[in-house]
Amino acid sequence: MKYWIDTEFIEQPCSIDLISIGMVAEDGREFYAESSEVDWSKASSWTLQTVRPRLDGKAMAREQIGYAVRNFTDGDEHPVFWGYFPAYDWVAFSWLFGTMTELPFHYPQLCLDIKQWAIELGDPELPRQVGARHHALADARWTRDAWTFLARLDPKAAGRRARGSKNPDQFGAKADD
Ligand SMILES: [Mg+2]
Repeated sequence: MKYWIDTEFIEQPCSIDLISIGMVAEDGREFYAESSEVDWSKASSWTLQTVRPRLDGKAMAREQIGYAVRNFTDGDEHPVFWGYFPAYDWVAFSWLFGTMTELPFHYPQLCLDIKQWAIELGDPELPRQVGARHHALADARWTRDAWTFLARLDPKAAGRRARGSKNPDQFGAKADD
């Protein structure tokens, strides 16, 4: 199943502090969580003014969010994750489980990128996001909408999957999930 994801985070050199995560599943289910461990002293004024006011305040520890994400994808042996410029989102996502090698065993170690797909197609203008922005669930919904737009242009590529791990030997040695 596909999952469109987005996170809000505080970025500093050598750290990406997850604020919130939103996920939309291909079957229409949605997931949203906020971290109770955010170090707001590191936040930029933009983040304090733009992201923080949109939070609902029902936060939990990152480890708990990781368990909740596992539950959200429970029973799916072949999840495929999509994001928009997702490099940093994917680091924040992976750290919910520990290191990259500690991702749930059946998760790919790669998040597919809406933007990269758009570039492959000549970089068409993507649908505009209406309503709230910089809220992880709202952004995840838009990511799904952008994916749907590209899938109409390029139906053959819509089923692409991310599989495997970067270092299979290391992954196999550590996999105990
Ligand atoms: Mg966002």
